[in-house]
Amino acid sequence: MIIIKTEQEIQNMREGGKRHAQVLQKLAKMVRPGISTWELDQEAEKMIKDFGDKPAFKGYKPDGAKTPYPATLITSVNEEVVHGIPNKKRILQEGDIISLDIGVHHNGVFTDAAITVPVGKISKELNELLMVTEEALQVGIDQVKPGNTVGDIGSAIQSFINKRYGIVEGFSGHGVGRHIHEDPYIPNYGKPGEGEKLVAGMTIAIEPMMNLGTKYVKILSDGYTVVTKDGKPSAHFEHTVLVTEAGYEVLTK
Ligand code: MG
Repeated sequence: MIIIKTEQEIQNMREGGKRHAQVLQKLAKMVRPGISTWELDQEAEKMIKDFGDKPAFKGYKPDGAKTPYPATLITSVNEEVVHGIPNKKRILQEGDIISLDIGVHHNGVFTDAAITVPVGKISKELNELLMVTEEALQVGIDQVKPGNTVGDIGSAIQSFINKRYGIVEGFSGHGVGRHIHEDPYIPNYGKPGEGEKLVAGMTIAIEPMMNLGTKYVKILSDGYTVVTKDGKPSAHFEHTVLVTEAGYEVLTK
């Protein structure tokens, strides 16, 4: 069921989204060779709690998972696509890329956003992967307006990528707000005009995941970490977006 948010809920998401962006910006500045993904998680949790908010992923048990997610932050390094778990032993190295993904629970509502950042100096190839994936997010967001559909978003992203990268299937954007995951699903591919219609007051997370190699992924034995099957790196960017009468408003910036 698609949930249309009230004015008050939207205002709370706007406020939570601003804080959310500040946390991601701070974490991005901390990323450097030698830091552990656990240290990034500790800082994320501290910042969110200092704001008086709650981490949305910690303790959250997605459909099909055996155990609740154990951390505040999701850290997906290199060939890890999404859902990587922070670890004291995972030390970032020069040339890595890392996706930082957080959910924030502020004043009764949720926001979801992620960025992928370089660790020190990265290859030209990886730099391009990051730039194109971030641009793909904006291309998707540009489709957000009442009357357009979920398929318009996916199809715009797919044509923009134009086979340059593997577009991950089976993991996708989603409604967000009253819950961290709500209807509808928003795949990063599709056909124009297909799927649920966008309506003002909907709040959705759009999150392209692009693989340098093929689209194929698998889940590691921890039950969470999604990696590329060919071991090649993957990038991920995400924003929570409000559908407005005029088009859209990005809530997590
Ligand atoms: Mg999400």
